[in-house]
Amino acid sequence: MNLILLGPPGAGKGTQAKILEEKLGYKQLSTGDMLRAAINAGSEVGLKAKAIMDRGDLVSDDVILGIVAERMSKHDITNGVIFDGFPRTPAQAEALDKMLAGRAQKLDAVIEMKVDDEVLVKRISGRFTCAKCGKGYHEEFAKPKVAGVCDACGSTEFKRRPDDNEKTVRDRLQVYNKQTAPLVAYYHNKGNLHVVDGMAEIAQVTSAVEVVLKGLKA
Ligand code: AMP
Repeated sequence: MNLILLGPPGAGKGTQAKILEEKLGYKQLSTGDMLRAAINAGSEVGLKAKAIMDRGDLVSDDVILGIVAERMSKHDITNGVIFDGFPRTPAQAEALDKMLAGRAQKLDAVIEMKVDDEVLVKRISGRFTCAKCGKGYHEEFAKPKVAGVCDACGSTEFKRRPDDNEKTVRDRLQVYNKQTAPLVAYYHNKGNLHVVDGMAEIAQVTSAVEVVLKGLKA
């Protein structure tokens, strides 16, 4: 099963990808997470990507396709992939089609997660994660049970993405609408597109995605 979660920043792609990974055993492939790991490692890809990500622009297709191809060549990618934040341009979508065809695989579904822009800005500008285990929180909607202490691992250190501020979020939304939104028509024309309401509660969104996946198997 190869699945794309398509949607603007803050739509909940990463949250849903992690839940589906746990439930179904598919691997989440988040190009954003891979780039942040490259930045932390101080690699050449990370050095190239940092300034571009900080201002909310897209990293070049070449760099992205390079890291995706490398990840896809790893042995743990057997049971299927949930693409999160990839593809983001028509060129990336076409390259993914070729990559999958080369592995005698196909794309099973593209799930578009729809959320209003103002909700996205609120969601992203308030989010932060545990610096130790990565659990996600929000200043308003999902605070830790005990202030300043991670519910999952007890750590007292938290971090915020440098691009999760209102100005950059608005820029990222513009970039999404211009460069990534055309993929909705691309996948609709291929008959792969399914739409879910990304404004619903997390568990309801997961159920909606599972309904789509069950429908594919029927
Ligand atoms: P994300 O974690 O998916 O929100 O991605 C964070 C940032 O990483 C984006 O704003 C882009 O700068 C960069 N990025 C992640 N995935 C891609 C991609 N598929 N193509 C181009 N840039 C990307």
